Amino acid sequence: MPGLEDLYREIILDHYRNPRNRGELETPPAISTDGHNPLCGDEITLYMLVEDGVVSEIKTNGQGCSISQSSASMMTQAIRGRTLAEAEALIHHFKHMMSIEDHHHDDPGDTPALGDLEALQGVVKFPVRIKCAVLPWNTLSQALESA
Ligand code: ZN
Repeated sequence: MPGLEDLYREIILDHYRNPRNRGELETPPAISTDGHNPLCGDEITLYMLVEDGVVSEIKTNGQGCSISQSSASMMTQAIRGRTLAEAEALIHHFKHMMSIEDHHHDDPGDTPALGDLEALQGVVKFPVRIKCAVLPWNTLSQALESA
């Protein structure tokens, strides 16, 4: 019987092999930011279109390990259609799951669910890989600052 770790591995590999929201958006109106994790060689370019305070479109391009690329794919699914405030909350939520941020900020109480992203929680056991998983989220943070 497959355990939770096998299920998580399947979800990660599925996003790695069939990345969601892969590609580019025209800039402007979309904004783009680059992220790089030199420890592993992961690279990501994030494209985001914000309309009326909502992330109406988000796409990523890049290359790297299965953790970084699947995290980017899952992130685009979680962020698309969210308000900027919800996107910020999801970043905190994810970083908290990755044990690199305490939950001391004001939690609005209705933080959107992480969904498939929970498959990455096993990465916490491998500190070197946490940077891989968080790379797309740090890149999103940069994008939100210029939104
Ligand atoms: Zn990596």
